[in-house]
Amino acid sequence: AKIEGRNNYQFYNAELDRKLTENVRLENDLRKALERDELQIHYQPIVELTEKKMVGLEALLRWEHPTLGFISPYDFIPIAEESGLIVPIGEWVIKSVCQQIIAWEKETSNKYSVSVNLSIRQFYQSNLVQVISESIKETGIDPSQLTLEITESMTMDVNKATIILFDFKSLGVNISMDDFGTGYSSLSHLQVFPIDFLKIDQSFIREINTKSEKRTGIIAATILAMAQNLGLKVIAEGVETKEQLQFLEEHGCNYAQGYYFSKPQPVEMLKEYMK
Ligand code: C2E
Ligand code: CA
Ligand code: CA
Ligand code: CA
Repeated sequence: AKIEGRNNYQFYNAELDRKLTENVRLENDLRKALERDELQIHYQPIVELTEKKMVGLEALLRWEHPTLGFISPYDFIPIAEESGLIVPIGEWVIKSVCQQIIAWEKETSNKYSVSVNLSIRQFYQSNLVQVISESIKETGIDPSQLTLEITESMTMDVNKATIILFDFKSLGVNISMDDFGTGYSSLSHLQVFPIDFLKIDQSFIREINTKSEKRTGIIAATILAMAQNLGLKVIAEGVETKEQLQFLEEHGCNYAQGYYFSKPQPVEMLKEYMK
C-alpha cells in the first residue's frame, strides 16, 4: 500500500506539473491576446417573454488562440483572474460593449441592453466605477443599457459588496445576480443589495422536464415565486426546449436566454434578430 501511495503521489505530481506548465504558457499567450486582437465578444439574445421580443444580449468572451483554436472562457477566465489579466481584459470588454450598444442603436434605432460578466477581481478593483463611467460618457449610451452580472461569491463580504453595488447603481446601470442558487447565498441579503435581475442558473432549468412523472422544476418555480415577492425580474438561462419555456412562462418568468432562441453569436450573425 505504501508503494502504491508513492506511485500515486508521483503520478499526481507529474500531472500537476504538466498542468502548471500549460497554464504558464496560456498565461503568456493571454498576455499577448489583447494586442494581437485574438479576443472577441459573442452576444446571446435575451428575450422578453410576454412580447417574445429580444430586448437585450449577454456579452460572452471568446479567445481564438493562434495554434490551439478556440479556448473556452471556463478555461481561460480562471487564468486571467489569477494573473490579474482580467483587469485589462475586463476593461476592454466594457469599452467594446458600450461601443457596440451605440453601433446597434445607430443601425437599428433600438436601445438594446447588454449584460457584461464581472469577475470577483474586477468587482473589488478600485477604479472599476470610473472605467464604467468613462465608457458610458465616451460612447454616450444610456447607462440603463448596461447591466453588470455579478455572482453570489462576490457578495460574501456583505458590507463591502453593498457599498460597491450602490456605487454602480449611482451610475444608472443595472445589476444582475448571475448563476443564482448555485453559490453561497443568503436570501436576506437580496433585500439589501440594489439588484435588478436574478438569473436562474442553467442547472435548475435543465431539471425542468414536463414529460417526467416526477415533480420537476421545483427550484426554478421557488426562485420565481421568491423573486416576485422581492420585486426582482427574473432571467432564465440555458433554456433549450419548448417545454422549459412553457413552464417558465406559466411561473411568471420575465426573460429567457438559451439555445432554444439562439447560441451566443458574433455581431455579423445577429442581424436577423434585430429587424
Ligand atoms: P455564464 O455567465 O453563466 O454564461 C452562460 C454560459 O452558458 C455561456 O457559456 C453560454 O454560452 C452558455 N449557454 C447559453 N445558453 C445555453 C444553453 O441553452 N445551453 C447550454 N448548455 N449552455 C448555454 P460560455 O460562453 O462558455 O461562458 C462561460 C462562462 O465564462 C460564463 O458563464 C462566465 O462566467 C464566464 N465569462 C464569459 N465571458 C466573460 C467575461 O467577459 N468576463 C468574465 N469575468 N467572465 C466571462
Ligand atoms: Ca453571465
Ligand atoms: Ca450564468
Ligand atoms: Ca454559469
